[in-house]
Amino acid sequence: MFKPIRAENGVIYYASDMLGGAVHGFSTRIGGVSSLPHTKSLNLAFGRGDEDGEVLHNVRRLADALGFDADALVSVPQIHSDIIIEVGADMRGAGVFKQTELAGDGYIITEPCTFAAIKTADCVPVLMFDPQRKICAAVHAGWRGTFSLIARGAVEKMVSLGCKTCDIRAAIGPAIGGKCYEVGEDVYVAARAASPILADAVFTAREEKGKYLCNLKMANRIILETAGVPAKNIDVCELCTHCETELFYSHRASGGVRGTMMSVIGMV
Ligand SMILES: [Zn+2]
Repeated sequence: MFKPIRAENGVIYYASDMLGGAVHGFSTRIGGVSSLPHTKSLNLAFGRGDEDGEVLHNVRRLADALGFDADALVSVPQIHSDIIIEVGADMRGAGVFKQTELAGDGYIITEPCTFAAIKTADCVPVLMFDPQRKICAAVHAGWRGTFSLIARGAVEKMVSLGCKTCDIRAAIGPAIGGKCYEVGEDVYVAARAASPILADAVFTAREEKGKYLCNLKMANRIILETAGVPAKNIDVCELCTHCETELFYSHRASGGVRGTMMSVIGMV
């Protein structure tokens, strides 16, 4: 179950009891220092209109709220790929406090005191944890990532490192809901190429030809289950970023003029 948590410093984030034992949180837009109408107030990405110093201040506020060292956070540029990066201690700060050549949309963490963040504003953040093997994963799944099956890729990487799928727990965070996410034929075609069964399960044709509603959260749940993660180990946040614009940034609802949230995971 997802629950909102208000930290002492005013940051509000969501946590899932499914990920107990891992330090984690899905940020909202509440509790930061950004003051522009569209970034107010916990924008966690560069290049959205805030000074870089404000963004870094917000990152430190989120880290303080979650109780980890911000300097250990990794969040490289995302490229809507299925690239998953194995995060080592040498990468701490990459993409946040220091420049990086790396880009990708998923992380595997095997070491303590190292944290990774997915950046979203409608796309689906998926955080995973194996409390037996002590391995975490984080995935950025927009439609391209979802239908390139990046969530399955993360499960496979965890298994290659010794995890059993029955031990993997996953939390699918706040993202645009299935009733609000209209897509065109291109997305449907990409999904069918990945898996016709998956596409049939998560697309609903609209009256207008070539338009569909797409449920990305459900798609990622199905992908995880198909990869072997037990259904009872998967928690899905029902909140829709497109509907809850006081609480979250939404790319669609804002016409692209918006801040960015982070979904963070790691171990102490
Ligand atoms: Zn909605």
